[in-house]
Amino acid sequence: MGKGITSRSEDYSQWYNDLVIKADLAENSAVRGCMVIKPYGYGIWERMQAILDKRFKETGHTNAYFPLFIPKSFFSKEAAHVEGFATECAVVTHYRLKNDGEGNIVVDEEAKLEEELIVRPTSETIIWNTYKGWVESYRDLPILVNQWANVVRWEMRTRLFLRTAEFLWQEGHTAHATRDEAVEEAERMLEVYAEFAEKILAVPVIRGRKTENERFAGALDTYCIEALMQDGKALQAGTSHFLGQNFAKAFDVKFTSKEGKQEHVWATSWGVSTRLMGALIMAHSDDQGLVLPPKLAPIQVVIVPIYKTDEEKSRIDNFVDALIAEFKQMDISFKYDDRDTQRPGFKFAEWELKGVPLRIAVGARDLQNGTVELARRDTQSKETVAQEGLAVTIQNTLALIQENIYQKALQFRDAHITAVDSYEAFKEVLENKGGFIACHWDGTAETEKRVKEETKATIRCIPLDAKQEKGVCIFTGKPSSQKVLFAKAY
Ligand code: AMP
Repeated sequence: MGKGITSRSEDYSQWYNDLVIKADLAENSAVRGCMVIKPYGYGIWERMQAILDKRFKETGHTNAYFPLFIPKSFFSKEAAHVEGFATECAVVTHYRLKNDGEGNIVVDEEAKLEEELIVRPTSETIIWNTYKGWVESYRDLPILVNQWANVVRWEMRTRLFLRTAEFLWQEGHTAHATRDEAVEEAERMLEVYAEFAEKILAVPVIRGRKTENERFAGALDTYCIEALMQDGKALQAGTSHFLGQNFAKAFDVKFTSKEGKQEHVWATSWGVSTRLMGALIMAHSDDQGLVLPPKLAPIQVVIVPIYKTDEEKSRIDNFVDALIAEFKQMDISFKYDDRDTQRPGFKFAEWELKGVPLRIAVGARDLQNGTVELARRDTQSKETVAQEGLAVTIQNTLALIQENIYQKALQFRDAHITAVDSYEAFKEVLENKGGFIACHWDGTAETEKRVKEETKATIRCIPLDAKQEKGVCIFTGKPSSQKVLFAKAY
């Protein structure tokens, strides 16, 4: 297996693609814009799912499942929602094929659906149509439901994981009796995402609010976490929406309050997708391949035996058996790569490419000396360590790696937030440095659009912790009360 990854400095975008393919994460499929997630990549996604799912349950949510298809009429019920999604909907019109008599399989025009079905791009409409039947009184609230599913958005420009036409995600859909409760829920789930990104993915994120332009279609407020990639571009890593009563009104979902009044229900929705795989890859990996944070890595330690004779191999096996027993007890995930079809050097390169945080190499001489060679993926450093207490050494080193990866990304991110006071400086930073640009903006969609047209930068978010400070918009000179973050984004 040749490595053959383009370096980041040569062509970042090609580097990313090479890495995804060579590390065996995913590949393009026969269907435009849709990818095949390969077993190793899917294993990482499953880790993400497991950890997030646990957090959702700890915060009171349960999973359910709703249909893949949504009747077209449902979509039209919420005006902003349909407008936002109309241009990227896949529509099912027929339910049968037939043989045309000349050996061609064609759509059977007689099997036309009375009402077209939309392949869900998101499930608010079908879910709120369902919630109508679930809610009568305040006693039925809140509803705290999550769904793990695939969705389809007919994206024109796609990239593996970051933007695909079909993607995997989870979508939480909650229903509440009061506005405050719904806002609190939207903020709580944003924090769940932020913590997951920082503690597990080791990706620092900025918690913020979207401007009207970037808001989810149908939401009153969209909260987001924004991450910075190594090429200085931002990536929206997750969103949590306060939907107000828009969907309850569209689908006539009312409840009787404690006071006996009929009121519309308040809603939130929140989601993260397989885009997180892209965030993970782009935030940490290097020219040698993937770098995985230990808390997420499906394999945390790989053990490679180095031997010449069967006798040596069997002595190494004995040592490894004992070590593995300790790993199991300590919940350290491992792989003993004793394939006899590949040489150690090949295995080293392969696991490096796949981002396994730690590698143990053990040979006959190590057995004599009571040592092994331990190699860290993040720093690419190697050291000889004692076999005694090895499992504990490994556990401690995994924790160090997790922290090191995060700190490295954090330093990079913080070094790439630049405050500017003029449009000239704004363009200069965008051109030469990239990253987030903190500046005053007059609060209008018009200005945001003009800046985007001229520079391709968008407002990533209004940070939740933004200071109130008086200033003037870098573009129009109009007054502004806080800085926002602009960036070019994926
Ligand atoms: P939204 O429903 O638009 O708020 O998106 C929910 C989540 O899915 C966000 O974290 C988005 O970044 C992500 N997402 C949106 N579109 C795509 C796409 N085409 N491919 C992968 N992830 C996406």
